[in-house]
Amino acid sequence: MLNPCTPDFLATLPAGTVRAPDARHLDEPRGRWTGQAGGVALPRSVDEVAQVVRACAAARVGIVPWGGGTGLVGGQVMPGGPAPLLLSLERMAGLRGAWAEESAMAVEAGMTLARVQAAAEGIGGMFPLTLASEGTATIGGNLATNAGGTHVLRYGNVRALCLGVEAVLADGSVHHGLTRLHKDNAGYALRDLLIGSEGTLGIITAATLRVVPRPAEVAVALLAVPSPAAALALLALAEGRLPGLVSAFELISGVGLGFLAETMPEVRVPLVAPWSVLVELGLPAALPAAAAMEGLAMAAAEAGLATDAVIAASGVQAAQFWAVREAIPLANRRIGAVSSHDISLPLSALPAFIDRADAAIAGIGAFRVNCFGHLGDGNLHYNVFPVAGRSRADHEGQREAVKTAVHDLVAAMGGSVAAEHGVGRLKVADLERYGDPAKLAAMRAIKAALDPLGILNPGAVLRQG
Ligand SMILES: Cc1cc2nc3c(=O)[nH]c(=O)nc-3n(C[C@H](O)[C@H](O)[C@H](O)COP(=O)(O)OP(=O)(O)OC[C@H]3O[C@@H](n4cnc5c(N)ncnc54)[C@H](O)[C@@H]3O)c2cc1C
Repeated sequence: MLNPCTPDFLATLPAGTVRAPDARHLDEPRGRWTGQAGGVALPRSVDEVAQVVRACAAARVGIVPWGGGTGLVGGQVMPGGPAPLLLSLERMAGLRGAWAEESAMAVEAGMTLARVQAAAEGIGGMFPLTLASEGTATIGGNLATNAGGTHVLRYGNVRALCLGVEAVLADGSVHHGLTRLHKDNAGYALRDLLIGSEGTLGIITAATLRVVPRPAEVAVALLAVPSPAAALALLALAEGRLPGLVSAFELISGVGLGFLAETMPEVRVPLVAPWSVLVELGLPAALPAAAAMEGLAMAAAEAGLATDAVIAASGVQAAQFWAVREAIPLANRRIGAVSSHDISLPLSALPAFIDRADAAIAGIGAFRVNCFGHLGDGNLHYNVFPVAGRSRADHEGQREAVKTAVHDLVAAMGGSVAAEHGVGRLKVADLERYGDPAKLAAMRAIKAALDPLGILNPGAVLRQG
């Protein structure tokens, strides 16, 4: 049983580390929950993080780690239970080291992703994790959620970009894992366990990250495709012609473009079609990317896989194309989803999934579906909205049926109902319903072993025992 975080408890924490929570610490982007907290600890060093964790363990006070607050599954907010202590890494945002000759750098967990990207540029490379929330999201939060984003197809998710982590465990001990080794099979991979654990197994305080070469030539295009199946065939065509050089392949639905027109008419949309893909190629010097993209678009048209194409003529235009893709989640929020689903499936199952899910949703009621996302990774956001003139409140009683229909189908087709945003507090019941029982038992055993008092992010990922 945990105790609430009280003023008396706060007085035991290191001097100068405690503040009252601001609204930004308690709100979350989808507005589903409002968190509560007895206070916010803002430690300045790994030593202070360890002191805070030890104090929480001694007093049995829950800790909710907080990065930038951009998580989409409620892992960073705790709306019920004994008021926890929020532990924000925002004052630990420094560059610990950079090794250009090794294409590696070490950063503190509170550094925003945008600043991590700038630090990589500072040593002549690129940190390829890219998210619409990168100005606010922190690398600690990215690692804790094993964030994906738009360039996973080429560079992997953040786990693939991380060489080592430093973390404070639930007893206040420090795991000094800031290695720059590419090979280290000395026992269990604690780094990989902490990545994606959403603050339930340890507080990540710093990480060593891989930096990759920036492609010399980049081309971006929007291509209208006859169907999601054609989009997948186009992806195979692109990868066959340009192996390893397709950096992003994003599916865009005409419904999403309609939402943009409805809620953000200032966003210029260069190509409107029922289905389209945004393709980014990144090529080494001496391989002209624009010609490669034109060749791809022509081959796609000849094969009946593309009906129209616009190729960005400049970096500014490429950014405008990306702005369309990145505005879609905001437009979705303005329309107000009845239910949003972050799912992944084997690539070849995606077209049938979309057809079957559309049919299942139509059987429940009249809705608009905006299905979009990281097609190249098999990760789609299948989001269900009210028809024009109605609101999400009108469908309150149908939300559970919609979600269950989509998730049951995903599970039946061999997919995941928590593809890139994680489990947080939103999908605890889904994990229990669809998760592999042996995996769930192992997860509970790991949690009990590493956090026997259950103080780290109580109720996130796993229901509190
Ligand atoms: C507009 C928008 C677009 C997005 N696009 C994507 C996308 O394309 N791909 C994607 O994967 N995500 C995306 N996200 C989700 C979100 O940005 C990521 O989950 C991000 O990685 C969270 O980082 P954060 O610093 O904001 O973490 P927070 O939201 O503060 O926390 C997220 C989780 O991590 C834990 N945590 C935070 N910091 C630490 C730490 N140092 N140690 C241990 N645990 C910690 C928290 O307790 C919580 O469980 C998007 C979000 C928004 C708002």
